[in-house]
Amino acid sequence: TPSNGPVLALRGLAKHFGGVHAVADVELDVSHGERVSVIGPNGAGKSTLFNLIAGDYRPTAGRIELFGDDLTRTSARVRAHRGLARTFQTSKLFTTMTVDDNLYLALCGKPGSVRRLRRADGDERRRSRTRELARAAGLEAKLATEVGELSHGEQRQLELAMALASEPRLLILDEPAAGLSPAERGTLTKVLSELSRDITLVLIEHDMDIALVVGERVVVMADGEKVLEGTPDEIRSSELVRRIYLGG
Ligand code: ADP
Ligand code: MG
Repeated sequence: TPSNGPVLALRGLAKHFGGVHAVADVELDVSHGERVSVIGPNGAGKSTLFNLIAGDYRPTAGRIELFGDDLTRTSARVRAHRGLARTFQTSKLFTTMTVDDNLYLALCGKPGSVRRLRRADGDERRRSRTRELARAAGLEAKLATEVGELSHGEQRQLELAMALASEPRLLILDEPAAGLSPAERGTLTKVLSELSRDITLVLIEHDMDIALVVGERVVVMADGEKVLEGTPDEIRSSELVRRIYLGG
């Protein structure tokens, strides 16, 4: 894995729904290990951008480069195989099974892992790997807990851990904090802040508190366009951002 060059590059990216320019001419470069937040009011085009990057939408115009290759015309599956992981819409939790077992199944989703796990030392490996994933998501103490007994926030953390099972190079999240309590948001913020630097993170988030703490660079969208890019401090003190959020 080359650690230089952009992990994600968007070039003139656009998505129109009829007359609605949901995403309009967006340019973005994200380097290996970076934490980038994309913020904006409701309707700004954040989820559409997310779906374009993930491969769920075909762009109306523009290019999506992932890991140095033009993957504009590839499926979500191909992008996932190349090292893109996403939450939270696609994860399926098995509520009557433990955290450990859910993580085990997530590990089985990765080709190669199954073969490794089936070897004689498979169980040992599985235990250390599920523990590692749970630790990364702040759930180490919950390994033996049934998923149905987890709080809403802990289930989000588990979905994150399951996304990490594929050892992604790029993780994209669409509003992971939506619907969480302030305490749960705090925990999620901490977990995201402590993610391994091997993983590049693009966090799409309406909630400014999380976006500005986790993101080192913040991209502001409004009406489909990227209107501003800056450090959290610059975004925090921006009159434009204040206006956009109040007007949104
Ligand atoms: P955000 O996630 O920032 O709230 P969205 O990407 O969901 O914004 O939406 C951006 C704009 O595109 C909105 O005007 C929304 O109504 C429109 N839009 C999003 N998805 C669709 C769709 N599938 N069909 C038609 N319009 C859509
Ligand atoms: Mg959205």
